Amino acid sequence: MTKEIEDWKATLRDLGVTSLIRPENQHIPSKESHSVSPKKIKKSEHVDSLPYEQPTDPARNPPIEIISACTNLQQLSEAISGCQKCVLGTTRNQLVFGEGNPDAEMMFIGEGPGRDEDLHGRPFVGRAGDLLEKMIIAIGLKRSEVYIANIVKCRPPDNRIPMPEEVRSCLGYLHKQIELIQPKVIITLGATPLRELLGITEGITKIRGTVQSYKSIPVIPTFHPAYVLRMYTPEVRKAVWDDLKFAKSKIEIPN
Ligand code: SF4
Repeated sequence: MTKEIEDWKATLRDLGVTSLIRPENQHIPSKESHSVSPKKIKKSEHVDSLPYEQPTDPARNPPIEIISACTNLQQLSEAISGCQKCVLGTTRNQLVFGEGNPDAEMMFIGEGPGRDEDLHGRPFVGRAGDLLEKMIIAIGLKRSEVYIANIVKCRPPDNRIPMPEEVRSCLGYLHKQIELIQPKVIITLGATPLRELLGITEGITKIRGTVQSYKSIPVIPTFHPAYVLRMYTPEVRKAVWDDLKFAKSKIEIPN
């Protein structure tokens, strides 16, 4: 696949358009051939096509009572460190819990780890991470002062969008992170966190510029840094700058 097509697909998914995108590993049988030789199936295809049986032991399937009882991020991180509640746990290199100030007033939420994040065990590293850091610095904060997390903690194969059952398995961890951090403002990056955290299915271009709410915490939707890198136009950069400045104004309001 050419880089142009890759970029086009990535841009569509950043905008929340998923119905036009066929996962690379989804096989469409031709009229002549209705089966695929098992030898030709890649590991990621195998993972996506088999029903996943959740483990039952508490290390790989941490019970809700253990998650609820966590009183800080360290405890939560330890509780889920061996999680294999969904199939993504079987293909990850490292679980990417999230990082930053446990008392952050501003929290960023993305979709899920990519290749670099999976290798380093940290959210938003690589080019998109560098841009996110520049964006944070531009509004007068440091990366270490905010908190950065994702909807799912393990990398979806081929960087595909997380499946609904994977999000269902993982989202409770993010809810708990937000409960423990209690940020004054949340910034969602791209369409997936908006859809999965708030149930908003409208495209990000329509919804950005509005203020949403998660349990009374204002949520500012903006573009994903990877989208900004691909669409590096003055309009897109201004939109993100406006969103971040507005988000910053929310943490400057005295309690
Ligand atoms: S994505 Fe979430 S639920 Fe799935 S294995 Fe990783 S931590 Fe567990």
